[in-house]
Amino acid sequence: MNIVKKNDYLFNNVSSIRGIGKKISKYLKNKKIEKINDLLWHLPYSYTDRREFVSLDRLEIGKIFTIKVKVVKYNFPRIRNLPNKIVCEDEKGKIDLVYFNSREGYIRKILPINKWTIVSGKIGFYKNRYQITNPDYVTSIDNIDYVKKLIPRYSLTEGIGEKSYRKIIEKVLENLPNIKEWHEASFLKKMNFLDWKTSMQKLHEENFEKEINSNVYKRLAYDEIFSHLLIMSKNRKKIKKYKKKPKIFKKLISIKIVNSLAFQLTESQKKVINEIENDLASKERMFRVVQGDVGSGKTIVALLTATNVIESKFQCAFMAPTEILAKQHFELAKKIFKNIKINVALITGKTDHGKKKEILKNLKDNKINLIIGTHSLFQKKIEFNKLGFIIIDEQHKFGVKQRMSLAKKGGNECDVLLMSATPIPRTMMLTFYGDMDISKITEKPAKRKSVVTLSKPEEKMNELWPFIRKQIKNGNQIFWICPLIEESKILNYSSAIKRFDFIEKKFPKKVGLIHGALKKEDKEDILKNFLNKKIDILVSTSIIEVGVDFPNANLIIIENSNKFGLAQLHQLRGRVGRGDKQATCILLFKGSLSKNAIKRIKILKSTDNGFLIAEEDMKLRGYGDISGFQQSGIKYFKIADPVHHEDLFKLAENQIKKIENNLDNNKYDFLIKLFDKAEVFSEL
Ligand code: ADP
Ligand code: MG
Repeated sequence: MNIVKKNDYLFNNVSSIRGIGKKISKYLKNKKIEKINDLLWHLPYSYTDRREFVSLDRLEIGKIFTIKVKVVKYNFPRIRNLPNKIVCEDEKGKIDLVYFNSREGYIRKILPINKWTIVSGKIGFYKNRYQITNPDYVTSIDNIDYVKKLIPRYSLTEGIGEKSYRKIIEKVLENLPNIKEWHEASFLKKMNFLDWKTSMQKLHEENFEKEINSNVYKRLAYDEIFSHLLIMSKNRKKIKKYKKKPKIFKKLISIKIVNSLAFQLTESQKKVINEIENDLASKERMFRVVQGDVGSGKTIVALLTATNVIESKFQCAFMAPTEILAKQHFELAKKIFKNIKINVALITGKTDHGKKKEILKNLKDNKINLIIGTHSLFQKKIEFNKLGFIIIDEQHKFGVKQRMSLAKKGGNECDVLLMSATPIPRTMMLTFYGDMDISKITEKPAKRKSVVTLSKPEEKMNELWPFIRKQIKNGNQIFWICPLIEESKILNYSSAIKRFDFIEKKFPKKVGLIHGALKKEDKEDILKNFLNKKIDILVSTSIIEVGVDFPNANLIIIENSNKFGLAQLHQLRGRVGRGDKQATCILLFKGSLSKNAIKRIKILKSTDNGFLIAEEDMKLRGYGDISGFQQSGIKYFKIADPVHHEDLFKLAENQIKKIENNLDNNKYDFLIKLFDKAEVFSEL
């Protein structure tokens, strides 16, 4: 066989395997297994140990043994429902094999009289005799090695049966093609990695469960990480390939604005602004994400850099996830552009028809320099005259493809900047934003006090009322976050209503309620009422919009706080303490706390560094459970794990940096195909 054909084997449909008929292939399809390759990534979840091989005087009841016995006598009762019994022995003892629902002919065939046979199964004891009921394996003695071993168990066998599935997967593993190695021999040697085929075979053979850091597992995880980052790098190249006109500016407007601000930019903000400005002035298109914790001051960074684009005679679009946030950005822009000739417009779902028409016309005639809005900004009918910069705020749920299509829509002259308020661990950063350049705002504005974080058992809730009363008297506002009841919008909603009624009785006319079942517009109205201080307490499920600045909100109370993840608690806490006053976060908890919960509270109390918290969160919860990304429904890895394989990410990142400028050959084609990454690429 030639190599190409051999490689194709993995991408054939499973039905091409002997032993997989219509029924099994349908069953597998339901489990999303269509190609032979898919079978490889369904790893055994545990093993059956059939290695215990002893003479019959050394059996232990309840354990699985493999034995070598001679069939001595059959006992086929003529009464229905009684099992067939086969008496066997070796030099040291006797044992009965018991078969329910079996035919005599079958038994005589698999267990011929006077012949030595290998049997494996769980040892039972009945009427003073050892027995095995329905043995798992009965086979000839030259076949002993097939049975006397650790045998992988696959979750798939629930519908197929251990022995049949074993036959299928063993055949597949045996038939794996010899593939030309894509990693350097020196690298494999240094890492103690085996070739792909051997690693793949061993991954199924050995007890990988405890071996996520074994060299076999790591070699394959590395392949996967490598292929993912490689695709990201290719995407990035693709974006950078189209050359744009560099934006030309002297920062005249932005310097003027900076001088008029009531505060000093942090060093971090300055650094990020600088990075963005370099991109704007370069021939390559910007495709950058700014990460900064809640309250780190991303908006001003976006607006200041936008002024450079405007100075360079291009238009800017600033997209926010909600109307209220778009409006807040708009107000800020108007304020800081007060004495500057920049034309800003706001467009949302609520903008009335006439006004909208006017805005669209002005946009087309290049009379608007900066347009701020919700996702309606990217509707087809919106035409720009000379769009040069797209800013997307709080956007952490965009997949790679969506991002690329946005970049495309903007045209070749358009620079793209994402801003995300969800700090995520470094490995996740590479996974999700590996195709983008990354800027990080790591400091908070100097004067900001960190939020005091306290924990309290729920039974002591009564102690809160005087504290809340005092806060209201001092002009402060309060968020009350209701327990999150998983998988039930209705329950969340009813518990929030109950809590609202309860608090409303204590503070009449001062309380508002917001939850996920409300319409978007109603939610925004309530948030506006809170922003305008028409209410003092806002009872809410965990849906409070990200990013809205409530400068008077100083106290946040989070019920049943151990239901939330660490990073989520940090995000919630970030809703308060945006003004100058000291803010407080109170974590209520039910009953006694688990070790993990205590640890989490401790971390929250000890730091307000979102990046650090994100790392800890991932360690505590494991990858795959990080809020937000999980919801995006994108499963990035088959076997790699950003928590356990952090070192491999670093290695892959460095390796790709070395080779990414010389990627003309097809060396990695198979690798990319193996991990299904080719599709992502070809669809762009
Ligand atoms: P986020 O990064 O969460 O989007 P914002 O841009 O909404 O943060 O900023 C939060 C608040 O901090 C705003 O009121 C903003 O005016 C203020 N702010 C931004 N930068 C600074 C700074 N360097 N010093 C003091 N306050 C700042
Ligand atoms: Mg923001």
